[in-house]
Formats: sequence, structure tokens, C-alpha cells
Amino acid sequence: MTDTILALNVGSSSLKFALFSLNGDPCLTPILRGGVERLAATPRLTMAAADGTPLADAVFGGNDGNADVLPFLLNAIESKLEGANLLAVGHRVVHGGRDFTGPRLVTAELLEDLDGLVALAPLHEAQNIAPMRTLRRLRPQLVQVACFDTAFHSTMPEIATRFGLPRAYEAMGVRRYGFHGLSYEYVSGRMQDIAPDLSNGRVIAAHLGNGASLCALLQGRSIDTTMGFSALDGLLMGTRPGTLDPGVILHLLQRQGMTAAQIEDLLYHRCGLLGVSGGIASDMRELLASKDASAREAVELFAYRCASQIGALAAALNGLDGLVFTAGIGEHSPEIRKRVCDRLRWLGVRINEEANDSNAPLISTGASTVEVRIVPTDEEAMIARHTLAKLKNRHRAHA
Ligand code: ADP
Repeated sequence: MTDTILALNVGSSSLKFALFSLNGDPCLTPILRGGVERLAATPRLTMAAADGTPLADAVFGGNDGNADVLPFLLNAIESKLEGANLLAVGHRVVHGGRDFTGPRLVTAELLEDLDGLVALAPLHEAQNIAPMRTLRRLRPQLVQVACFDTAFHSTMPEIATRFGLPRAYEAMGVRRYGFHGLSYEYVSGRMQDIAPDLSNGRVIAAHLGNGASLCALLQGRSIDTTMGFSALDGLLMGTRPGTLDPGVILHLLQRQGMTAAQIEDLLYHRCGLLGVSGGIASDMRELLASKDASAREAVELFAYRCASQIGALAAALNGLDGLVFTAGIGEHSPEIRKRVCDRLRWLGVRINEEANDSNAPLISTGASTVEVRIVPTDEEAMIARHTLAKLKNRHRAHA
């Protein structure tokens, strides 16, 4: 019987999943992928086979804002297993704190430790942990593995993790961690396959999706990144501001009478492209299609911030050999890549417009001193790989 691994990637308002079979071990073959949108209201499940054939499009749960989608999701996936066996579930967990620098088997002790990290990622961590507890109840035989988004950045040198705060705050866990680690780990691994020489050099990976960040990769390992203590820092994002003078927060608290909860809502849900465009959209495609001056400025600010922070990471890397675009905007928007790259001509970046317009894997010209590539990311595949590795360790330990 074929064994399978389910990768779960639970975000604040949506969930992505992918099912992989273990035939041809050590290869993982994708069987199906899908997502659940609007987790809190009326969740909608869509699912398609690896070849794109639609498998499901269904609305479920009530309007109580609390629908636990997991039992529905599990039933929907298990109905497509066709005799295969669901062996393990891997979870993306946003925050691993200081201690979890690699994937962990989910145990009662781990869950307690993870509860202690909820304060570090209040909007995400609890949502990542809840499905683990539900699954332990619903399917106690399943092996579960937690894969941390911060772990890939544990190779950052100490200097890149520091804030200019008194040391006592560092002891409280207030330091730079970095996120999007599963995406960067996947991209870094792909780079070793498709451009091994380049992957041994100095590369900046740009994960540009609704959430967006950059990672400085030296010989494939993270040495710095633009997100820090939280996923608010760094680049301008769909609804988050990116780098913001902390004096603004003080001003909002002390002079504008905003509460901490109001500021949290502002920073996570109402800033970024959405805020700068005057509420037109957080979605890059919509903004690019708009003729509105505020929408145009939001797009320009996105590219400006992206280029200037690439400059900062190029300094951390002491030069730049490669630039890799990934995630929704990075993979699919020639216009944004062009705007960013045009601002990096001083670094020696030259792109081939035809290659860029067709989303080709290599978009720089021969004359470019920086090789510019597009590498589609796959966080779910990375989760499945980590889960498989943990399963093998477990078998070895039991053998
Ligand atoms: P998430 O962070 O939710 O995983 P994605 O990586 O899917 O997000 O990226 C979503 C973003 O990618 C949205 O802003 C969307 O508009 C943008 N995007 C997707 N396709 C295109 C495209 N063809 N052109 C411009 N932007 C695109």
C-alpha cells in the first residue's frame, strides 16, 4: 500500500495543503494540492490533482466564525486516497523561537513548549498549533511533525540577530528571527540543482507574495533577512507596512489615543499596499491594473523598498552574484521584477526584457554581473521532505 504525507500550511485567513506519496522513496510525488479560503467565515475548500484536474470545490461549516475545518478537510482528503495510507502530517509553524532550529516530532511536551511561543507570533502561532491538537484527537496514530519558518535563519550570525536594545531584552527573546524560512530553504535547495555554482556564491532571494521578505544567502545558508522579531518588518507587503520608525507607534499610542489592539489591527491588516493605495487593494495584480495615482504610488513604493533593501543585504553579503525571485509576485509579475531590477543597475543588474516578460527561469542578460533567476517556491514540498526525514529517523531509532 502506498504511504502518503500531508503538508499543512495554515495562515491567518487561509490554509494551503498538499498530499505527497512516498513511492519511489526518497522521492516525494505530489498527488493533490488545495486550499481553504476564509477560514473564519464560511470556509471554501478547493482541491486539484497534481495534473490540475479539479477534485473538489465546496463550502462547509457554519457562519459562527469558529468552524473547525480540519475534520472536513481530513475527510475530503481521505476520500481521495484511493487505498493509500496517510502516514504523517507535517505542519508549518511560524515561530520556533530560539530553541527550535529544525523540525520536531509533535508530542505533548512539544505542544506545551509551542504554547510558550504564542506570545512571539500572536496572530499565527496558535492557529498553527491548534490543528496538531485536533489531529492527535481525531487520528492519534498519525505521526506529526512541526516545521518552523524561523529555523532556516538560525545560521544568521549573531550580529544580524541583534536590535540596538539593552541586552536584557535579548534574554526575553526580543531579537531578530526572520520568517519565510521554509520557502527560502526550498529555493536554496533548488538553486543547488539548477545553478550549483551560483548557489555557492552570494545570492539574495526575494519572496514576494502577500507577505514579502528578502533573504541573503551565502553558500546557500541564510546570513540575514528583512523580517525580524515579527513578520511586520522589512519590505512593504499586502497589508503590512514593513520597516516603520518605532516612534510612529509611540505617537499613535500617546498622541492619537489608539489602543494596542487597534495598532495591531492597523499594522497587520490595513497598511502596506492596501493602505498606501487608499484602500484600493492589497493584491498586486489589481493595483497594477489600476490607473489611480495612489495605486501607482503603492506599486512604486513596493519596488523602491524592495530595491533599497536588496542594496542593504548586498552589503551584508559583501557583493552580489545572484538575485532570485519567488512567490506570487516574484514568480508572476514581469512589471515588478523590471521595476526592482531597473533600480539595481548600479549593482550591475541587467535584465533581458523578453525573458522577463515570459517568466523565464533565467532573466538576466549575459552582460549582467548579477545572475537574475525565477525559482518557483514550494513550502508544502519542504514540509513534506522534513516530515519524511523525521519519519526515517524515527524508524531508525525504533529499529
Ligand atoms: P501568499 O503570501 O498568500 O502565499 P502568494 O505568494 O500567492 O501569496 O502571492 C500573492 C500575490 O501575488 C498577490 O499580490 C497577487 O496579486 C500576486 N500575483 C499573482 N499573480 C500575479 C501576476 N500575474 N502579476 C502580478 N501579481 C501577481
